[in-house]
Amino acid sequence: MTVRTRIAPSPTGFPHVGTAYIALFNLCFARQHGGEFILRIEDTDQVRSTPESEKMILDSLRWIGLDWTEGPDVGGPHAPYRQSERREIYQRHAQQLVSAGHAFPCFCSEARLTELRTEQMARKETPRYDGHCLSLSPDEASARVAAGDSHVIRLKVPTEGICQIHDLLRGQIDIPWEQVDMQVLQKADGLPTYHLANVVDDHLMQISHVIRGEEWISSAPKHQLLYQYFGWDMPVLCHMPLLRNPDKSKLSKRKNPTSITYYRDMGFLPEALLNYLGRMGWSMPDEREKFSLNEMISQFDIQRVSLGGPIFDPEKLTWLNALWLRELSPGQLLDRVLQWSGSREKLEAISAAIQPRIHTLSEAVDWASFYFNGLPRITAEQFASKKLSELQVRQSLQLALWRLERLMVWNDTTVPAVLSDLASQMDIKLRDFMPAFFIAIAGSTSSTPVMQSMVTLGADLVYARLRHALTVLGGVSKKESSEWQKWEQQLGQQQTSEQADGQMNAASTDSATSHQPE
Ligand code: GLU
Repeated sequence: MTVRTRIAPSPTGFPHVGTAYIALFNLCFARQHGGEFILRIEDTDQVRSTPESEKMILDSLRWIGLDWTEGPDVGGPHAPYRQSERREIYQRHAQQLVSAGHAFPCFCSEARLTELRTEQMARKETPRYDGHCLSLSPDEASARVAAGDSHVIRLKVPTEGICQIHDLLRGQIDIPWEQVDMQVLQKADGLPTYHLANVVDDHLMQISHVIRGEEWISSAPKHQLLYQYFGWDMPVLCHMPLLRNPDKSKLSKRKNPTSITYYRDMGFLPEALLNYLGRMGWSMPDEREKFSLNEMISQFDIQRVSLGGPIFDPEKLTWLNALWLRELSPGQLLDRVLQWSGSREKLEAISAAIQPRIHTLSEAVDWASFYFNGLPRITAEQFASKKLSELQVRQSLQLALWRLERLMVWNDTTVPAVLSDLASQMDIKLRDFMPAFFIAIAGSTSSTPVMQSMVTLGADLVYARLRHALTVLGGVSKKESSEWQKWEQQLGQQQTSEQADGQMNAASTDSATSHQPE
């Protein structure tokens, strides 16, 4: 058997270090067995998937040093490798399951399903479909489908007994069938859900080993059932332990940056980050901390993965990064610094920003330095304002951070719009609102225009600096956070209705000011 593994990211956000971690173990396993590692894009969620996210994921995985032999960008014998381009394949397979009696059309309305869920939750039961449409005769169901009644296709699931899953690291896992829902396989718009598309593709792309995060264990019974219903051999399953924050909670961007691009922009070497991810739950036989990808591949043994949640600790990563930096020759280090300092486009944007402020070239480094500092050295005292209370300063930074985190497009229209809209909604003059942002981002109130520098710095560093400023200011308590979240939503809604009014006024009086899109 040829070993074939895959990483199957969904392009619904920034490139997560967890994706690189799972990709790395898949690649090592495949290479070590002389097999292939491929990349497939799982973009069945049409609302949340974006081409920008797909590009960032592919670029980041390549930046870190991973490489695939088949994928949407390189093609291959099982193309297309993007699920949105394979919908007929899934429809055909869903139909095959319905014809064989393993799946059924379900016509239940959203209202009925919501009511069912509410009742089940009130009874403290796990919400699941109650099998209502299973009572329709096949003829009745076909007639309704032919008449164009809106429906989904659901998987038939045994109602009793235990499903036994075999996992390469965990051995046998028992999951009672009563915990498994009659999963929707095809949505009302004809698109597949993750479960159907994932199983069909893993089979058609001849994947021999599915190595993925442990959050997918609960999906394994549905997948196993699908393989049985189709009469296909099931790939070997291997669920890797989830990465954790130093406090053992599940790795989350609230506590630590989780975007690969953040670590790139902060000046980590890709080989150091990859090395660190290789240390997540795995170790070299001689326990050495520093090793290259090739060394890892040559010594790789999946059985050495330990299931205790691996801790992703940025401080430990920084220590390892320094080891890698020390081993470069001065010439190599110089090349790395130059490479990291940014594209010509970015350096030109910085030059344009400092140009009106300098009298001699020797002042340039001073003015530009904050663009290259990871986190500026700042103190709480710097944020003291005559116009705003300490509370308002923290609120403005936190609310701006939440809104910027939701921003899908990062450019010189959208970023300033977030800040100016927020200032006006909080009823604070922009000139009183902005100083806190100057300090958080540039470390000082005298710097190049801060909104522009936020655009140039990029989302990851801006998030990190705003979070750092909030920490320096003593943080935001859980109570404040939940109160402010509600308030922030109300401010947004108020804005939306003002915008609607503004548009109506604009039509009649032509005098409304235009709001930038958020
Ligand atoms: N698209 C899923 C994800 O985003 C893939 C899960 C799997 O590997 O089966 O993680």
